[in-house]
Amino acid sequence: MSREHAAFLARAAVKAADEDHRLKILRATSTYDAAVAAMKSPATGQFADWQSARALAATIKDDALARLPELLARFEERIAARGATVLWAEDAGEARRHVIDIVRRHRVRKAVKTKSMTTEEIELNALLEGAGVELWETDLGELIVQLAGERPYHIVTPAMHRSRDEIAALFHERLGSPRDAGAEELTMAARRHLRQAYVTADLGISGANFLLADEGAVVMTENEGNGRLTMACPPVHVVVAGIEKVLPRLEDLALFLPLLATSGTGQQLTCYNSIVRGPRGEGEPDGPERMYVILLDNGRSALHADAALRQSLRCIRCGACLNACPVFRTAGGHAYNTAYPGPIGAVITPPLRGLTEWSHLAFASSLCGACTEVCPVGIDLHHLLLENRAGAVQAGGAALRWKLAMRLWAWAMSRRGRLDLLRPLARPALALLRLLMPRRLRARVPALAPRSFSRLWRARR
Ligand code: SF4
Repeated sequence: MSREHAAFLARAAVKAADEDHRLKILRATSTYDAAVAAMKSPATGQFADWQSARALAATIKDDALARLPELLARFEERIAARGATVLWAEDAGEARRHVIDIVRRHRVRKAVKTKSMTTEEIELNALLEGAGVELWETDLGELIVQLAGERPYHIVTPAMHRSRDEIAALFHERLGSPRDAGAEELTMAARRHLRQAYVTADLGISGANFLLADEGAVVMTENEGNGRLTMACPPVHVVVAGIEKVLPRLEDLALFLPLLATSGTGQQLTCYNSIVRGPRGEGEPDGPERMYVILLDNGRSALHADAALRQSLRCIRCGACLNACPVFRTAGGHAYNTAYPGPIGAVITPPLRGLTEWSHLAFASSLCGACTEVCPVGIDLHHLLLENRAGAVQAGGAALRWKLAMRLWAWAMSRRGRLDLLRPLARPALALLRLLMPRRLRARVPALAPRSFSRLWRARR
């Protein structure tokens, strides 16, 4: 068992027994589920046919992935023509070096940043702090986890695991707001704190929800207005984007913006949708003087080359599969210790970061298929988890006892007669299993049916 596997199990066990955590996640996901259901319904939402919308989105993304080199080259050519600098990063190390070069070139001492899982992936915050840059997260959820010294819990709602009382205590301690502040007061405290940061920062860092090849533009969606201020106020703007974020045409946003808003937060449309086509142009009153776009590969080309896993690059990071996943909701986002938790994280982390340490994530699933059902771009997540499991077994990651148990299972299940042959052993085997399990879990071991299926079938005929 790898170190990460053991740590995952330990963290998950603690959270699974934490009723307060369960309650908070249940409240958050119930509110989310109701809002999403209304948005998807033809009667109350904006989609006449949600399934057709997802199928179209999958087709557009597959087309973009099939033409990835061509579309990225077009994006680079067009945004560079308006003064932005495009930098390519083969891995996280190269992306980090680009950021440090920019920091040194522009003598950056203070930076503001939007929510971006791609920057989590390259561990940008620790990098900048190590380089002596004062960095402030500007998304409210991200600010909460930054002040708490945690990593984001969820890719869309980073502070989903924190109650209002916990946030009030944190803000009281770190930002001086009243101990019993309500939601509005807490938001105002964050706003007062961040307004100063926007106007004094030397650098604004953002991710990208989409890259538009035909426009040569970066698209950012957000609900707080912090993204616009981060991109527009500081003199330098750096975008860190995965290469899979490219869409062919501006018109594709007519589908992808409502799709992302519906699956991400149960909204018709996110409040702020910005299309950034370069740094401040001549005669324009605001915007950064310099703009850099770092296009990150970091294993995505390997996913692209894998016929089965390529569809995982369709992901638009809406977080719906996390909300639907019983393992994520029970174990919690921090159990994964990855930038991308939940089903999509379990699909892409092992191939991106190495099977040896991370293959256990493929087994962190009941394979119920809820993730696949909700994915707005039709990624067959639970079958991809099976692909990863097969990869882990082929790489020699399965324990001998597991392999033997699977062989016996396959032998018995392939013929009804064999299963009947083993039936006399089932009762003592279940009794032994009960004995070996922790006391609190024993009741979950099922009782043996009084009569086997074969006997029932024979009796019926
Ligand atoms: S895999 Fe699908 S459901 Fe999960 S975050 Fe990506 S787009 Fe959303």
